[in-house]
Amino acid sequence: MLRRVLYIDLNKGESFVEDRYDLFEEWLGGTGVATQLLLEECPAGIEPLSPEAPIIFSIGPLNALFPAMTKTVATFKSPLSGELGESYAGGRLAMAMRFAGHESIVIRGAADRPVYISIRDDDVQIKDARSIWGIPATVVGYILRDVETGVGRRSIIRIGPGGEMLVKYAGVVVDTYRHFGRLGLGAAFGSKKLKAIVISGTEDVEVPDPRRYREIYKGLYKTVVQTDAMEKYHDIGTPININVLNQLKGLPTRNFQESSFEGAEKISGEVLADDYLFRRVSCAHCPIGCIHIGMLKTSFSREHEYEIRKISYDFELIYALGSNLGVSSPEGVLELIEACERQGIDAISTGVVLAWATEALERGIITPEDALGVKLQWNDVNEYLKAIDNIVKKQNEFYSALAEGVEAASEKYGGGDFAMALGKNEVPGYHTGPASIFGLTVGVRHSHLDNAGYSIDQKAAKKNLSPEEMVDAIIKEDDSRGVYNSLVGCLFARGVYSTEKIIEALASVGIERTEEELEVLGRKIFDEKYRFKRREGFDPERARIPHRFYETISTMGMVDPETIETMMKIYRRRRGW
Ligand code: SF4
Repeated sequence: MLRRVLYIDLNKGESFVEDRYDLFEEWLGGTGVATQLLLEECPAGIEPLSPEAPIIFSIGPLNALFPAMTKTVATFKSPLSGELGESYAGGRLAMAMRFAGHESIVIRGAADRPVYISIRDDDVQIKDARSIWGIPATVVGYILRDVETGVGRRSIIRIGPGGEMLVKYAGVVVDTYRHFGRLGLGAAFGSKKLKAIVISGTEDVEVPDPRRYREIYKGLYKTVVQTDAMEKYHDIGTPININVLNQLKGLPTRNFQESSFEGAEKISGEVLADDYLFRRVSCAHCPIGCIHIGMLKTSFSREHEYEIRKISYDFELIYALGSNLGVSSPEGVLELIEACERQGIDAISTGVVLAWATEALERGIITPEDALGVKLQWNDVNEYLKAIDNIVKKQNEFYSALAEGVEAASEKYGGGDFAMALGKNEVPGYHTGPASIFGLTVGVRHSHLDNAGYSIDQKAAKKNLSPEEMVDAIIKEDDSRGVYNSLVGCLFARGVYSTEKIIEALASVGIERTEEELEVLGRKIFDEKYRFKRREGFDPERARIPHRFYETISTMGMVDPETIETMMKIYRRRRGW
């Protein structure tokens, strides 16, 4: 079986394909393979925005073959954190890579003028993108779909002005409403003058035993659509957590100064679903449709003339640009989400950066002159929109600092105690307790999706878990997600894909693995990621934890630094560090 990796060199304008069966045999696919390619391709200590820093995409053996196996992983050296950059996106990209016959794509070098890459099966062309440079991410997709063929089997990924301007938390927009949001992949594209990639393919996907494959497929499909395993993602979607976390005192509010928000009900998933939901869409090969699209109607003349904008929303975006900025109107939250989408910048990071800036201005750490007269104040959507524009344009020294991320900005101006980043990555919307804080600190990409510490906190609150038990749960999640992310499945479906089901699904496409082998693989993948992280300077034991986490009540009550220190000691022992 061929395991094809497509190498594209932007310096030379060349590409070639190599069979890397060796890598896929040992590391399965997805994040396992993408981590190895990163270790191979990325010189130690390289500046993340230099031409030598590679970008890698990878899919896994079940993508485009089973329901909700829809994601693609990107690895790169993060411009934001300076160490492991790892980001996931759905949409049609995994399907398009599968049909084009490339399980991984490695991008080397940088172009000397704006370009986009067009991939159709083995035909790779590097095309002039000067006419689309500067165009919002939301518009570029419409332009490229008219000039590139492959409709139905095609994926278009692109950056907005944020990536072009090297905002360190710029993302890459994937097809419609999906993103490689976190850790600055958009800036990595921008540094290579790479505006977009369009990929499509005409290959068929063959399985060795179609009868067995169909049987396994049917069982999984049934669980996805006929049980309640994924129902909540379709119905109200992840924003259902706004009201839930608010009641549990776990919803970060006004830069984590509080953990419940008086305006939560107004921006809740229930209100958005009742009053703003326009439709739901799905990634290719997913029957769930969890992507909630809200409709924002704004009048542009007195004669009842309206503009309708369609904006996708989910829990993290509502936290970051809603409760964390004290914004209590759904229209305001949708406006801010759309501004991030247009500029192609990560909404979580943007919300955290703006929240820090608001508090810094309140405390006199920065001046109104620094903010160029923008009145950064809670719940002021129009002023926040101006600030987003200033960040992307890097209008002055202060906004340039904000474009570097919250930790870098606080290093320059002060206010580190309330600069809410862990591992230099702006934190997601959970103030649930020690497992969340600790899980984000040690997780490979400092994301809630590494080990779901927030959910371990909620279990701990019910079952009174000890620090040992919380640490063990974090390790188990981190390692098992290494395997799942090597298949690159949607994490919302992780309950459907038990280890047993994964083994059956792999067997049906000709890959035999035992439970023990997968367990060992998960641990090995984690270790390899830490090999890269440590090589690039990350030391979890010296990680900065903002004091604000210890000042605001969480779902588990007040968290004290000693608990986190105890967890670190246990963790170090368990990991054999
Ligand atoms: S559940 Fe949602 S995010 Fe996951 S694959 Fe389906 S549509 Fe995409």
